[in-house]
Amino acid sequence: MTKPRQPRPPREQSNTPRQSLLQWLNDEPLTARDLSQMAGMSEKDVYAHLPHLAKSLKQQGLRLEVLPAGCQSCGYLFEERAQFTKPSRCPECRRERIDPPAFSVHPK
Ligand SMILES: [Zn+2]
Repeated sequence: MTKPRQPRPPREQSNTPRQSLLQWLNDEPLTARDLSQMAGMSEKDVYAHLPHLAKSLKQQGLRLEVLPAGCQSCGYLFEERAQFTKPSRCPECRRERIDPPAFSVHPK
């Protein structure tokens, strides 16, 4: 007597990594490091999820605002940077002291 396997209901898992990230994001800018500690995942994972979060937020009428990374030495802002990740080196002064980008969520 074998029971038929119950299919897992889709989208019923209460805490996917993205959802746990979402619950921490608000109008206060947080870096990937902040978020990684709050949501219990690596910074790399946070960066990997952010582009998807930006999309799903958009569908909810919200937007993910990115405070661009900036050079601590000369003040250069990485505004043109399409990716969410922290740049490793400043193109202006070539130093590596970079403030990471910060993320917040706002209504459209
Ligand atoms: Zn610089």
